[in-house]
Amino acid sequence: MNPLLVIILAAVLVEFALETTASLLNLKALQFEPPKELQDVYKHEEYRRSQEYTRVHTRFEFVVSSFHLVLLLAFWLSSGFNCLDRLVRSWGYGPVPTGLIYLSILFLAYGLITLPFNIYGTFVIEQRFGFNRTTPRLFLADRVKGLGLSLLLGAPLLAAILSLFQYAGRYSWLMVWAAVSTTSILLQFVTPRWIMPLFNKFTPLPPGELRDAVLAYAASVGYKVDEIFVMDSSKRSTKSNAFMTGFGRTKRIALFDTLIANHAVPELVGVLAHEVGHYKKRHVLQGTAVSFAHSGLLLFLLSVLLNNPTLYQAFFMDQPSIYTGLLFFGLLYTPVELLLSIGLQAWSRKNEYEADRFAVATAHDPNSMVSALKKLSAHNLSNLSPHPFYAFLNYSHPPLLQRIQALQREADRQNKQEATNPGLDLRRVAHIRATALMSGVARRGRRQASGLADTSTTSSVTLPSAIQKALNVGCPESMRDTIT
Ligand SMILES: [Zn+2]
Repeated sequence: MNPLLVIILAAVLVEFALETTASLLNLKALQFEPPKELQDVYKHEEYRRSQEYTRVHTRFEFVVSSFHLVLLLAFWLSSGFNCLDRLVRSWGYGPVPTGLIYLSILFLAYGLITLPFNIYGTFVIEQRFGFNRTTPRLFLADRVKGLGLSLLLGAPLLAAILSLFQYAGRYSWLMVWAAVSTTSILLQFVTPRWIMPLFNKFTPLPPGELRDAVLAYAASVGYKVDEIFVMDSSKRSTKSNAFMTGFGRTKRIALFDTLIANHAVPELVGVLAHEVGHYKKRHVLQGTAVSFAHSGLLLFLLSVLLNNPTLYQAFFMDQPSIYTGLLFFGLLYTPVELLLSIGLQAWSRKNEYEADRFAVATAHDPNSMVSALKKLSAHNLSNLSPHPFYAFLNYSHPPLLQRIQALQREADRQNKQEATNPGLDLRRVAHIRATALMSGVARRGRRQASGLADTSTTSSVTLPSAIQKALNVGCPESMRDTIT
């Protein structure tokens, strides 16, 4: 039996088993009562609803991932990859166009087959819990735009990768690495300015108490306020969030309009401080560096395996080719990817703690930060008691309880430092006064929740995961550092 076939099959099945186990443990960990430190997050009825949301979501994810698994195994074991290859080759194009056509067909077919799940997720599940604001028209427009972007950006990059591997000889992987890295840097600049606005409107903060508070905070940490925007996320969903993306002159922090509608000014300053923390601690830059290293490793391994006939035999191919090699390598890479993603999630959680500490140290208002996080969790029906194993595998952000405890520890630590060294930071005293003043204004002027938001903007139409893994092209979603 083909050893790579066994390895890939085992990897795919083990990954599925791990994720399913984690989800089951997560469901079992749902508690009748919220953790006592978080009693005030939900009202009783809402707490029930949040648990129901977790249950419904978990079941849905299980159905989707089972379907993916069955689809992959059926297509693979019935020689689907080879049949499609024979068909596309029979059209008689050169290796690069043939590769582009082959991967496009798979990409489109995958998109169409999984479309019903997207529709169900948005229009049935999110609708049922009152989150959905996406109209069928907007849903369609998002898909069309996503497809257009894939053609415009993905196709030329893919063509370059295929050509380099086809013709550039021994060190082609290094050239592909350079091409992918350059594209990814360009995307960091292009995405905030030109791609994200295709999906959402970004408007500067309007004059008023929030802008004044933000100006005061931004000035105190030396951050340019013209890079802070309000995003009209309410057109897709009522969920709220905030994120920081990009670097250089096109970087931006976006506060969802739903977030602004639901939070008091000091809470919003806390959220903003967290996002500025991501920038000041260079998390986006580090993330880019990590993804360069990752794609280098991936492309090197790929180049080693690309000419190995066993890889193609494992998928019952008559002939090897670069484009199917990319695809199959993506699958073979599953276990490495799983380990890496666990490492990356842990690293991301560490960054979240770091950004929170920055927020406490600069906004000097941990209570508002805690109340912002609690409100966000309640508003998004977050699970308050995720199973540690589930969080370990899947959470890019620390669970609420740990996060709040860390915030409080940090606030205590800073207070103690302050007590032993009074007058350490005069700016802080001024800031506390300003914040107290602002919070008075804010509480009076706080608006009612209009109930609106969005967590998926541009990633709605993406390459099938195997191709995406093989290309490792950062999508805008992965370039963000969000608040929750
Ligand atoms: Zn964050």
